[in-house]
Amino acid sequence: MSMFGQVYVKDNKYKIKGDFHHMTQNMPIRNADDGWKLLGVTNPRDMTYIHSYGGEAIFFESLGKGKLMATRCDNPDCDSKGVIYQPFRIHCMDCLGKNTVIDMTDIAKKTAKIHTFMVCERSGAFNILDKPIRFINIEFEGVPTILFSYLSVGHPEMGMRVVPIFRTTNPTYTILDLSWVPEGTKKAKLPEGFSF
Ligand SMILES: [Zn+2]
Repeated sequence: MSMFGQVYVKDNKYKIKGDFHHMTQNMPIRNADDGWKLLGVTNPRDMTYIHSYGGEAIFFESLGKGKLMATRCDNPDCDSKGVIYQPFRIHCMDCLGKNTVIDMTDIAKKTAKIHTFMVCERSGAFNILDKPIRFINIEFEGVPTILFSYLSVGHPEMGMRVVPIFRTTNPTYTILDLSWVPEGTKKAKLPEGFSF
């Protein structure tokens, strides 16, 4: 089998290498109640999707470096001037101006609290998180929005102080590189590849 698709950008164009879709052999679907007669076939398909992060790329790049980035409207004529957005919003919802990217790692370390949570015993397809998944909504001091993420250690409680952890070893460049643990958790308890 040839290699999975790889992409980089040069001269503002995607340069792609390898295979972006694979077809593997189909298999018969047979009827066990009727002498195993043929009913159809499975059509396995495996494809690589090119997902562009655009203006949010800095957010995902920073997670792997142990930093939580947010954005802030700095437009002096905007009613939302000074408002910090986490999750990261490229544009201000009020004035539609381009927000300033800021590092809010310290705010997160010092003020993050569980707003509410949800524990899921089952998951959808392609889940790679450990079950039960402890989804948490996180609030920060001075931030009007709520971040959705997951707790890696312990059991969530409303109002619980949590601190961010980052997958700094072999990052996936996805939102899964960011997780949370209760304040005071020892380094040895962190999941593999994560650090404070
Ligand atoms: Zn604004």
